[in-house]
Amino acid sequence: CGVFGCYHIPDAASMTYYGLHSLQHRGQEASGIAAEHDGEITVLKGRGLTVDVFRKPELASLEGVNAIGHVRYSTAGGAEAANIQPIVSHSSRLGDVAVAHNGQIVNEKELRRELEEKGAIFQGTSDSEVILHLIRMEEGTLEERVKKAAARLEGAFAVLVEGEGKLFAFRDTHGLRPLSTARFQDGWMVSSETCAFEVMGIYDSETVPAGGFCTFEDGILRRSSYREADAPRVCAMEYIYFARPDSVIEDVNVHKFRKETGRILATGDDVQADVVIGVPDSSLSAAIGYSEASGLPFETGLVKNRYVGRTFIQPTQEMRDRGVRMKLSPVKEAVEGKSVIMIDDSIVRGTTSRRIVRLLREAGAREIHVRIASPVLKLPCFYGVDISTKEELIGHRMTVEEIREYLEADSLRFMTPEQLRFAAGTAGLCTACFDGSYCTDLYSYSEVLSN
Ligand code: 5GP
Ligand code: SF4
Ligand code: MG
Repeated sequence: CGVFGCYHIPDAASMTYYGLHSLQHRGQEASGIAAEHDGEITVLKGRGLTVDVFRKPELASLEGVNAIGHVRYSTAGGAEAANIQPIVSHSSRLGDVAVAHNGQIVNEKELRRELEEKGAIFQGTSDSEVILHLIRMEEGTLEERVKKAAARLEGAFAVLVEGEGKLFAFRDTHGLRPLSTARFQDGWMVSSETCAFEVMGIYDSETVPAGGFCTFEDGILRRSSYREADAPRVCAMEYIYFARPDSVIEDVNVHKFRKETGRILATGDDVQADVVIGVPDSSLSAAIGYSEASGLPFETGLVKNRYVGRTFIQPTQEMRDRGVRMKLSPVKEAVEGKSVIMIDDSIVRGTTSRRIVRLLREAGAREIHVRIASPVLKLPCFYGVDISTKEELIGHRMTVEEIREYLEADSLRFMTPEQLRFAAGTAGLCTACFDGSYCTDLYSYSEVLSN
């Protein structure tokens, strides 16, 4: 998912709309904006892309200088309407409060049970509702309540809260999910990714540190923390796949990271090949890095139909299979009669790579050497990426040689988790889905690992 917020910015809802549009790659399932005007929060949200959910007159009805928005990619908590964010609570005692969240709270079940015992009534199954109820049940000023709620959460989260004319933003103590702030005119913007700032012409932004808390109040931003930071562990998948190449996470540019993974893959690779190709869009940077380091020419071997959503997002395997065909076409001219190095960012179920190998063979490629710009995915993620069981992961069920056979590739290589950490340079990485190094207690999710 992606979150975007505006504080003290005229026509905040429209600006949030542009922000969400730049974060669309983080989720295409649903989109929502909650704007505050004189203490009243109005929310508009629905299924689909940001451009489909909002029309100009509706956006104009969202008045106010503060707004928060969300694009959704469903992980924990299904696709039902009650889970579409932002989630708003209207209370005569506490006023209107809205929450938007990216990530996954690992102690969600425990918190939900505790809150229900105290009388909270839940509408849906999303983590964000748990955050909202925690805020409502705590004591003190809104800032104090949001801080106390934040301190109860475990797992991965970048959260925006709006109410009483204020905005709050905080990030989990490991910094698993990205979040940055930037100055805009007389106000501030806060975004999951910095690419959304650059679209607005802002090139100066600051990372919200792990465990960091931002209070936007009285026209200013006050930085503090709600808990001590743990060792930083940005989700490796943010760099590998999720984020846009122009974004910067923890001072590391995503494109640069991906190029580095390609460079590392090329080092010591003695395969005889003619060209290097990447699977658009997320693997192009890695393919360029491989090409530069190996001296082999980079080719446009595959073309993407930009009007098909990300295949992984489709709900069934059948739809995913069909999705790959609709989405990618080989460029015969670039691969015919050639030995091809095909770079993809990751293998989850194996659907994409297998399909692409076939497409390239059909287009006349002589040999296809698959290089994956990440390690073998073996374990589920409990931090907000939709890899929820071990069984769905081809890397859990098969050895690298068995995967190669399944893909019908001439050779196959992955990176090691150490190489991935090296590519990240100064940024500390979470690599749990590759090597089991989960950085938090997993609470009820630990059952998923043990059986
Ligand atoms: P597979 O087809 O092996 O199941 O999935 C891997 C492909 O899906 C890659 O090409 C990758 O770019 C894409 N992909 C889409 N969503 C995700 C995601 O959430 N995580 C990962 N690792 N890859 C994804
Ligand atoms: Fe990202 Fe994998 Fe860690 Fe999940 S387990 S946060 S996908 S690196
Ligand atoms: Mg891909």
